[in-house]
Amino acid sequence: MIDRSLSDPDLPGTIRVVSASATHVGHVRATNEDSLLEASPVYLVADGMGGHNAGEVASAIAVEEFEKLTIQENVTVEQLGEALRSAARRIGELVGESTAGAGTTVAVVATMVLDGVGYWVVLNLGDSRVYRLSGEIFEQVSVDHSVVQELMDAGELTPEQARVHPYRHMVTRALGAGPESDPDYWLIPAEAGDRMLVCSDGLTGEVTDAAIERVLRSPADVRTISADLVGLALDGGGHDNVSVVVVEAVEVVGRSLATENTAGSGRAAQDPFEIDEDTLPRPIAGGGPR
Ligand code: MG
Repeated sequence: MIDRSLSDPDLPGTIRVVSASATHVGHVRATNEDSLLEASPVYLVADGMGGHNAGEVASAIAVEEFEKLTIQENVTVEQLGEALRSAARRIGELVGESTAGAGTTVAVVATMVLDGVGYWVVLNLGDSRVYRLSGEIFEQVSVDHSVVQELMDAGELTPEQARVHPYRHMVTRALGAGPESDPDYWLIPAEAGDRMLVCSDGLTGEVTDAAIERVLRSPADVRTISADLVGLALDGGGHDNVSVVVVEAVEVVGRSLATENTAGSGRAAQDPFEIDEDTLPRPIAGGGPR
């Protein structure tokens, strides 16, 4: 577990977080192709794909490139984009039988201070996910780049059907595999008490959103929550590698749970660049109170 003040707590707009992570190969796969990073101010899950050891090489490269940002207190969106491009370049340069066709998803939560206000930055490419628990709100922030997400958007699948669809593992965007590798970004004001979850589809393929919300809402600490989430995925079958990173804002200077919680924190996530309907956070279908 990491407990680190991101910058001088006396300055406005700083965030103090605690985090924890857990990963497991699961009950079926021989190797764990997921990689994760839990190092302030960047929290990441990468789910590698490709034959032989290509997947684990690709996801490890993603972690290595984003890890370069963890020597600093804050990140910028430009730096996140540069890390992504560096990782894409390295994965694209992989040659040889064992790493041909390598690719990886990337889901990131990072902390950032803009004009004295603390934000969560979320970046997504593929079908690993970022969820946010903030007061009454529980939502999936990231939108999957997947075949079943497109079918759901077209009204051809319900979330329940998507869960068991034969194409449920097919991603439409990934880092290194194929031409489509543009990520989506979200910028969300951080509130004390927020819990952000970054996870691979080894969790969401086995555990319902309602069950994930229940665990995130528990009074347990982030380490216990991480272990419990992985435990649920294994109990659910453990068909895939499962990885989770949980980040909790302990203190956001200038904002506090006590003063802000009653104001109703139901604001939508904000995209500072352009609001794209396609990438707005979605309420959980049939989920918790709004
Ligand atoms: Mg997976």
